[in-house]
Amino acid sequence: MNKVLIFSAPSGSGKTTIVRHLLALFPALEFSVSVTSRTPRGNEQHGVDYWFVTPDIFREKITRNEFLEWEEVYAGHFYGTPNAEAERIWAKGHILVCDIDVKGGLRIKEKLGAQALSVFIQPPSIEALRQRLQARRTDSPEAIERRLQKAVEELEYAPLFDKVIINHSLHEALKQAERIVREFVGSEG
Ligand code: 5GP
Repeated sequence: MNKVLIFSAPSGSGKTTIVRHLLALFPALEFSVSVTSRTPRGNEQHGVDYWFVTPDIFREKITRNEFLEWEEVYAGHFYGTPNAEAERIWAKGHILVCDIDVKGGLRIKEKLGAQALSVFIQPPSIEALRQRLQARRTDSPEAIERRLQKAVEELEYAPLFDKVIINHSLHEALKQAERIVREFVGSEG
């Protein structure tokens, strides 16, 4: 069965750290590199973190039906999971791992049903999220406020996910994530 593991969370909730840990631990998991119309941040690399494209090219890809799902996550900033990534990863018998926003995550779950497991990583609080985003030093104060506003909206979607991990302690969150993935990987059939 072609499987997908979906991780969604407000940015700053520890999602990337958890996803990286799982990718290093489970050889069957492979990261789906999304396409985005936003510009690279920090050390981000084309083809590794994202496929960076212009808004025009992104729109062309939408019309050519190249996405499993796509969203305008922030005004003017598009993000999408390419069908080609899913096909490439499934062809190897691997499990597609998507680190995507809540709406995109729920859309894939709706499309793929039992083939997909949706996991929501919940930050302990909005204040904790603010502190993490500030410590990360990759966003301007305006961008941080935009992300926090988005986080408040995203938290309302948590109950719609198959699993919710509350990231109080990173160690505990990693262990919980491992258990969830072990069960999903093991349910091959
Ligand atoms: P960032 O700009 O911080 O890298 O990502 C912003 C948000 O977009 C994050 O919640 C991230 O998970 C989400 N995102 C990344 N790739 C995709 C994608 O392919 N589809 C959707 N719907 N969201 C994505």
